[in-house]
Amino acid sequence: MRTKVFYDLPETACYGCQACAQICPVSAISMVPDEEGFLFPQIDTDKCIECNLCEKTCPTQKSVSNPLFNAVPTNVDAAWEKDFDARLESTSGGAFYIFGKKWIEDGGVVYGADFDDKLQVCHCKAVTIEELQRQRGSKYVQSNLSGILKAVRTDLKAGIKVLFSGTPCQVAGLRAFLKKDYPNLICIDLVCHGVPSPLIFLEHLKYVENMSGKQIVDYKFRGKERSGWRAYIKYIFKDKTVEKRFLGNDFYAYSFYRSRFNRRSCFSCGFSHAKRVGDITLSDFWNAERYSKELRKQRKYGFNMIMCNTEKGRNLYNETISKFGRIELPLQIAVDGDVRLRHAEKAPLDRDSIFQEYHTHGYEWLVNNRGPKNSIASRLTPTWVKNLIYEIKSRI
Ligand SMILES: Cc1cc2nc3c(=O)[nH]c(=O)nc-3n(C[C@H](O)[C@H](O)[C@H](O)COP(=O)(O)OP(=O)(O)OC[C@H]3O[C@@H](n4cnc5c(N)ncnc54)[C@H](O)[C@@H]3O)c2cc1C
Repeated sequence: MRTKVFYDLPETACYGCQACAQICPVSAISMVPDEEGFLFPQIDTDKCIECNLCEKTCPTQKSVSNPLFNAVPTNVDAAWEKDFDARLESTSGGAFYIFGKKWIEDGGVVYGADFDDKLQVCHCKAVTIEELQRQRGSKYVQSNLSGILKAVRTDLKAGIKVLFSGTPCQVAGLRAFLKKDYPNLICIDLVCHGVPSPLIFLEHLKYVENMSGKQIVDYKFRGKERSGWRAYIKYIFKDKTVEKRFLGNDFYAYSFYRSRFNRRSCFSCGFSHAKRVGDITLSDFWNAERYSKELRKQRKYGFNMIMCNTEKGRNLYNETISKFGRIELPLQIAVDGDVRLRHAEKAPLDRDSIFQEYHTHGYEWLVNNRGPKNSIASRLTPTWVKNLIYEIKSRI
């Protein structure tokens, strides 16, 4: 097979959304991992018929002009699921689950990120509430959309109501692939500061399994039942034991919050602004508690920022509004509170060198040499004290 790389798209621009591969009428494009573990399109020139559909579909070519990619939010709420136990299962305020549940109860299907049986993150279709529950919670690694855009199109054409949830570049990839909006489609995009490498995540799982001598069967990037919002990484092992690690003590989480293993395109992301590609945008609502006593109360277990960007988005929110506690706030507070609504994340100085070091020395070396400085004071401080310090700092 003779191959070429994708037309003249620089590697730094490709989001890996797979729209090009799934639009190709002769299946000439495969998504192939690069040495950092991110998928990139590769064209089989023996099959390629030079129709240029791939190039025309690529969302990097469209983001500036397409009105579907630039919806202006009309209202912004800080909101949280009233059902406290259910909220514990979600990363922020549980809004995704409320919307997804309503959608499925009304006969629709939901596409979102789930783990496969090897704990790799990929988009899946949920038809039942049990399947939807698996999509809850942020998975801080790039999700694989293999076959998903085509599956969404098939469902839409069959008249099935589809809710698609993902990062803004994934929603943009879907919209570019579909070429038009469908009345039975609703898209939720997340405010996103970047997606880390699936290869590094796999290495991390192997490392934890080697160190513990136990197989990991489930993983939570932000468990919050003990100490609240954004407190823990939670490992669930096959022998039913559970390990919870404070974010600062876990090399993968520590690196994620520093954007060290993010895809290169995340540092020039064309969707890091307040004009949105989703009908609804969800995120944490950082710093909103400064503006409301009620939000200071709710803060411990997390709340969402919910932006409604289109009429469809507003309708779904209105239909579910009784499930939420909510406070409306000006858009500017959201924009001031999250840099990703203003511009793309800056690449950390060690972004490239850390991948080189990984290839030279391996993951365990990185953990031992590039991890958080585990001072004795930090190791001796109980998690609840760390959380209290965090709480106090965030109010200053
Ligand atoms: C990679 C990533 C980076 C993020 N960065 C920020 C940030 O910088 N600032 C901020 O305020 N919020 C960020 N978020 C969003 C935040 O973590 C919550 O997902 C969001 O607030 C929704 O929370 P929830 O409680 O409503 O729903 P949850 O139940 O927590 O949300 C789950 C939803 O997220 C989707 N999802 C989970 N993992 C992925 C993935 N890897 N790729 C695509 N979709 C996924 C699921 O399909 C589901 O729709 C990020 C999320 C991800 C996945």
